[in-house]
Amino acid sequence: MERRKLSGPSDIRKSKGLLDRYALMERVEATVQPDVLITNIGELVTLSPLARASRASHVNPDDLGIVKNAWLQIKNSKVEKYGTGPAPALPQGAILSNARCGLVMPGLIDCHTHPVFAGSRSNEFCMRLDGKTYQEIAEAGGGIKSSMMATRAANEADLLGETLARLSVFLGHGVTSVEVKSGYGLSVDSELKLLRVLRAADKKTPQHLTVTCLALHAVPPEHHSAASWAREAAEKLLPQVAREKLADCVDAFVENGYFSADDARSYLDAAKKLGLRIRLHADEFSESGCAKLAAEYGAESADHLQHASDSGIAAMRTADVVAVLLPGTSLYSGIPYTNARRFIDAGCAVAVATDFNPGSCVADNLPMIATLAALHCKLKPAEALVAVTYAAAYALRLHHHKGALHPGYDADFLVQPMATHEDWLADLGRSRPSQVWIKGQRFL
Ligand SMILES: [Zn+2]
Repeated sequence: MERRKLSGPSDIRKSKGLLDRYALMERVEATVQPDVLITNIGELVTLSPLARASRASHVNPDDLGIVKNAWLQIKNSKVEKYGTGPAPALPQGAILSNARCGLVMPGLIDCHTHPVFAGSRSNEFCMRLDGKTYQEIAEAGGGIKSSMMATRAANEADLLGETLARLSVFLGHGVTSVEVKSGYGLSVDSELKLLRVLRAADKKTPQHLTVTCLALHAVPPEHHSAASWAREAAEKLLPQVAREKLADCVDAFVENGYFSADDARSYLDAAKKLGLRIRLHADEFSESGCAKLAAEYGAESADHLQHASDSGIAAMRTADVVAVLLPGTSLYSGIPYTNARRFIDAGCAVAVATDFNPGSCVADNLPMIATLAALHCKLKPAEALVAVTYAAAYALRLHHHKGALHPGYDADFLVQPMATHEDWLADLGRSRPSQVWIKGQRFL
């Protein structure tokens, strides 16, 4: 097998393990998928009440749908049924797996990541520690543009290898669905290259990927204004993206100094016309009117939101825009945390994601981020668990078949070597799942 250029020895090891699992997956997919019975579950978190109501807001502890001393039956890759007490007889040919009194919960969903890039920005992290400002770092050639230069220079095979290695790390933390953004190409050809890499990754990884074109991440050096790049992206890039079905969604970084709401309109209008769904980086450093813009365009989510206005939050609620909070960025970059209560009290659904990227947040451990959100964004325990499962599925509009262990849902789930969901939330992401299943197949 060709050796890919990877970012470090541990990535190579993880990538090798992942590629072995792909081979396993392809073999299994060629045959009929056996049924599965998971027995001896100490605590089963189903989230069935949310799935039944198709609701990700107003989350309360009863919504966890907990079943103690449980079993779980999988048929044709879907949840067939679950219950408590003695397990039913093992169907002929079915796989039996013992959860050893552990916690079984829905697979985690990371609904905001930037995993396709080349190069390292660790020097910028140290420049920040030395007291340099964001502006000084950008002037020294750092920031998104530094990742852009390295990513433009990288070939598709290397980018694919590195992206798969990163997805493999997510899988080890129990992440079974991932939203993945382009955004370090910042030219028509380079953005197309990154989206092709993400589509190729989607075919190879066992995880479900939602692919997002983040062309409006920064203004590329070839353009004199944000509006001119937004226009080129709208007129030349998005039609090609739609023609080749390279992305499911588009995204834009609407922020003072990047793209104003008005700059983004030509791009968002084009996306809507082409049938691409919308998500937005909104109101992270200042109130830029983006929460309202997200509502106006019917975005599925608005993400970051530290400085969203009350009227913007109300508009998000009315338009069913999910608030995606990214506390890892606050931890790693030293910016304020978003207060989840403002969104929850207004009736918005709240999801939490890693924002994994090479500059402002290198955290790829979603369970750790869930605990961080509970602590610093002020989420209650049930809200924090739902934020990385059912609400994250809702943010990606996957909630009719993912994000809960409800009859008819994809059998994406984890076995955790701990007794309860309280143990999981208090653990700060230290323990890895002992089993990870996607669509009824075991990958860890
Ligand atoms: Zn982001």
